[in-house]
Amino acid sequence: MSFSAEAFKRQFPLFAQGENARLVYLDNAATTQKPLSVINAVRDYYMHSSANTHRSSHRLARKATEMVERVRGQAAEFVNAASPNEMVFCRGATEALNLLAHCLCSGLAPGDEIVISTAEHHANIVPWQMAAERYQLTLRFVPDTAGVPRFDQLSTVLNERTRVVSLTGGANAIGLRPDLAQVRRQVQHTRSVWIVDGAQLAAHEVVDVQKIGCDFFVCSAHKFYGPTGIGLLYGREALLEAMPPWLGGGEMITEVGLQTSRYAGLPHKFEAGTSPLAAIAGLGAVLAFLARQDRGAMAAHEQKLVHRLHRALEASPDFHLVSQARNNLGIAAFVPVQGSAADLMHWLDERDIAVRVGHHCAQLLGRAGSNPVTVRASVAAYNTDSDIRTLLQALEAYCDFHR
Ligand code: PLP
Repeated sequence: MSFSAEAFKRQFPLFAQGENARLVYLDNAATTQKPLSVINAVRDYYMHSSANTHRSSHRLARKATEMVERVRGQAAEFVNAASPNEMVFCRGATEALNLLAHCLCSGLAPGDEIVISTAEHHANIVPWQMAAERYQLTLRFVPDTAGVPRFDQLSTVLNERTRVVSLTGGANAIGLRPDLAQVRRQVQHTRSVWIVDGAQLAAHEVVDVQKIGCDFFVCSAHKFYGPTGIGLLYGREALLEAMPPWLGGGEMITEVGLQTSRYAGLPHKFEAGTSPLAAIAGLGAVLAFLARQDRGAMAAHEQKLVHRLHRALEASPDFHLVSQARNNLGIAAFVPVQGSAADLMHWLDERDIAVRVGHHCAQLLGRAGSNPVTVRASVAAYNTDSDIRTLLQALEAYCDFHR
């Protein structure tokens, strides 16, 4: 195994600065820190090549256009799409899911069904609720046990009216990673499209959309060491072709008439207006950065950390563990027996340990289970054994204080 978390961490300038040098950052499911190459790429775009794309044909504009299309090619490789035409740039997973809810549902008939789960991030719930209300569709949920979805029982809610199945590739509140092959086997004989919300998954595993067999896949660059404001929507080419556009404006048309317009082909049909070009430059840099890493070794390192955390929390009578180590994408969610999750978060913050407390944009999970508010420690590859030791010592000190 060739991965060194310490060497990896040295590529992230935030950890080398002042008070951040002792920071234990365990809020990676919310967003990750950025390596120097990504920060430089964003800066370089503004310093050396700022121009709009696809519109003007001067030297800088050509350079910016080439950059965007080069990054699209990298994005296609990142998820193993069959063609760059299948990759749409969007602001993030939230925007991609809204796009899909809008474009897929406008063609459905009243009474058609959408299936989601109680473990979804709000970004994969609310857009479907909005579409269901607008187009009189029925929203169904994967069966659950105390709020935790039973993806193995997905087929019990699939029927001839199911048109969309939109499920997490990794749940942000508890880290649960569904068996995607099992989901595929259940969905593949229906008339439904299958969307994977890969916002968490793409941060921890190599994604191969052809192997997964999904129709759509969404993710956000800021979850995998890239900039904010840029994400990816992958869609099978034939499905994207068949979908109406979403936002209207410049870039997404070939011809504008008085009453109607002719839309551009893929993928520009879905990219109205000026794209976040500096963020796309940063995305290109992070995809190159990840391509240089041993992703398998990174994942194994993260798994080691998250298992260690779970073992310690499971053994402790002072915490109630909400997440499970098995099939976990790097998240430990727990509540202290004494005091409250919010108290504990402040205690940790005072000791320079960053975790998140709350419902983690997954209120359905909390509502159905017994713990609506948890402390969430989420790991990235730059977290070290020493980070986990520091967290566990601080948790022990918190419990001693409350005894
Ligand atoms: N889906 C999941 C599973 C997430 O964890 C998140 C963010 O936490 C999102 C969707 C939304 O991502 P973004 O806020 O980048 O649009």
